[in-house]
Amino acid sequence: MTARIIDGKALADDLFAQVASVAQRLEAAHGFKPGLAVVLVGNNPASEIYVRSKSTRTLAAGMHSSMHALPAEISQAELLDLVRALNADCSVHGILVQLPLPPQIDPHKVIAAIDPAKDVDGFHPVNVGNLAIGLPALVPCTPLGCIRLARTVHASLAGLDALVIGRSNIVGKPLAQLLLGENATVTVAHSRTRDLPGLSRRHDLVFAATGRPEMVKRDWIRPGATVIDVGINRMAGDGGKSRIVGDVAFAEVKEVAGAITPVPGGVGPMTIACLMANTLKAACAIAGLPAPEV
Ligand code: NAP
Repeated sequence: MTARIIDGKALADDLFAQVASVAQRLEAAHGFKPGLAVVLVGNNPASEIYVRSKSTRTLAAGMHSSMHALPAEISQAELLDLVRALNADCSVHGILVQLPLPPQIDPHKVIAAIDPAKDVDGFHPVNVGNLAIGLPALVPCTPLGCIRLARTVHASLAGLDALVIGRSNIVGKPLAQLLLGENATVTVAHSRTRDLPGLSRRHDLVFAATGRPEMVKRDWIRPGATVIDVGINRMAGDGGKSRIVGDVAFAEVKEVAGAITPVPGGVGPMTIACLMANTLKAACAIAGLPAPEV
């Protein structure tokens, strides 16, 4: 069997087009543009690339984008002042502080300072709590993207056995909550899990979010299972160039899986499209409008 390749780029483009169309209608009907403010501290090259692409996509969706690049030595107090100013700015509906932050800054304090209504990353404890108890929340973009991708294979995830490998606050834990919300039966694995290959083989859906290049092998996957690869790992490639691989050994796993996301071109583009959708959702909620259907 050769797996169906889930085209995350095409699906993200589709979601992006829907977001752009709703944003255009919002502006025509209500006279405002959803606005996303992105804060970057220091000059981590990977963060710079992510932030630039988020800003470009925001503008291309017809939304307002502001970018705040701060020096690596900035104090926590100064960063908190900026977050408070963005909370108070009514042209800003979404605030994203790019992680990681330099060591003098406590990321939990910064996330807690963001107005939960503008927390488009879904990391604020209020949004984390609301997701856990099934109340409306802004939900982290990568897990949202994973669910959208899995739903292109399975119209319903109800009753399916889903394994999430990784338990980070950014990916694994919120993904497990979303899967529970979809009525899947969820197992969360981590670095202390015993017999991960055997456990993995018992699941219909496997989500890999470990940051361990090509860790998930062919014999971990039940024939026909759906595999969603969250990993982004930069590896040395031919001729001194680097290449990106996921947490799944794609070439061998695609021979046994029923469907699989590639890296790049799977979860990555969907994450950015979900950020646009979250910004739109936050803007509608702040304006007292119904949630957009995207
Ligand atoms: P993280 O915070 O480092 O968490 C990694 C998780 O994997 C931890 O829970 C860890 O277990 C678990 N783990 C590590 N080694 C393991 C092993 N050998 N067996 C089983 N579990 C293991 O990473 P993250 O932020 O969740 O990111 C995970 C991956 O997704 C990274 O490659 C990252 O670049 C990528 N990512 C992609 C996107 C996107 O947009 N596509 C977004 C975010 C992250 P313990 O808790 O026991 O340590």
